[in-house]
Amino acid sequence: MNDRAPDEEHRFPCDKCGADFRYDPDAGKLVCDHCGNEAELSDDGDDTGPWSGGAIEELDFETAIRNQLPRQEMEETRVSTCPNCGAQVEFDAAVHAAECPFCATPVVTDTGAHRHIKPAAVIPFQNDEREAREAMTKWLGRLWFAPNGLQEYARKGRKMEGIYVPYWTYDAQTRSQYSGMRGDHYYVTTRGPDGKSRRERKTRWRPASGRVQRFFDDVLVLGSRSLPKRFTDALAPWALGALAPYDPKYLAGFRAEGYTIDLQEGKAEARQIIDAQIARDVRRDIGGDVQRINSVRTQLSDVTFKHILLPVWLAAYKYRGKTYRFVVNGRTGRVQGERPWSAIKIAIAVVIVVAVAAVIGYVVAQNQ
Ligand SMILES: [Zn+2]
Ligand SMILES: [Zn+2]
Repeated sequence: MNDRAPDEEHRFPCDKCGADFRYDPDAGKLVCDHCGNEAELSDDGDDTGPWSGGAIEELDFETAIRNQLPRQEMEETRVSTCPNCGAQVEFDAAVHAAECPFCATPVVTDTGAHRHIKPAAVIPFQNDEREAREAMTKWLGRLWFAPNGLQEYARKGRKMEGIYVPYWTYDAQTRSQYSGMRGDHYYVTTRGPDGKSRRERKTRWRPASGRVQRFFDDVLVLGSRSLPKRFTDALAPWALGALAPYDPKYLAGFRAEGYTIDLQEGKAEARQIIDAQIARDVRRDIGGDVQRINSVRTQLSDVTFKHILLPVWLAAYKYRGKTYRFVVNGRTGRVQGERPWSAIKIAIAVVIVVAVAAVIGYVVAQNQ
């Protein structure tokens, strides 16, 4: 499995006819579309399949940052970089020109080899292309303001692409020392200038300080910028319990995006998520009705990470000169995308609303 020849990236020939196997989400195994042959993922005695009970290992962050990860945790793949959106995508070596799946820009597959941290785990696709497209079409159908042409185009358009999107997960033990203020409400009764008594809320502030600690497990951070973060955020939650130890056979017939946000950068983002949770912990620890946080000093230890791949169905359409992108969670079928607006439909809606208002106004005036 290690040091695969670049041209055989995620390609597994059928043992009956030699055509390429692909991973079938419905069957949960490799199938050959050419002759109908099927194969289990663990057929070759590989002990990393999900049914072998293989463990998904956390790697030490500091070791990785010093470039001292063991050789088997690294891999080299050939990727093309999209000149428009910067996505690094693995392309079929046999195809020399293709469209970037993220933005529909033509990419010449002048591939270069990239050395990077190998995925530790993957959530395999669960829904197939047809189910993903159905979910997208339904979602578009609910958007009343979407242009009809786009809906039609999406329905008949080319296939959605199954892409494994790169993510990092971080684990860390944290200990924080904080100082702040605790505010408790109390009420006083005062008499106003009109002679009536009023209940007034006041807050008594007292200094507060202390320590909190928390272990963070699998803080999830997106490892690329090809898709807007609001798209990928909206695909959450991801059930990380479905992670299977990495096996390149899961990628057969799919594409994998290489990470472009590196381990260190990803950690900075994880740190923001961690700090936000610690701030909530601190507020709870201070107690009272309201809290002020003056300072928090946090120590992280035992930081470990995993590079994982999550399944996303993706369609990028160029419609009337504009790119529309739709993503579907390859596990839950949740849809997110550019919300298209049809100027004509909106204009008609405005006319109807104005007309209805005019009629109501007329009726009311007549009845007065
Ligand atoms: Zn075959
Ligand atoms: Zn692109």
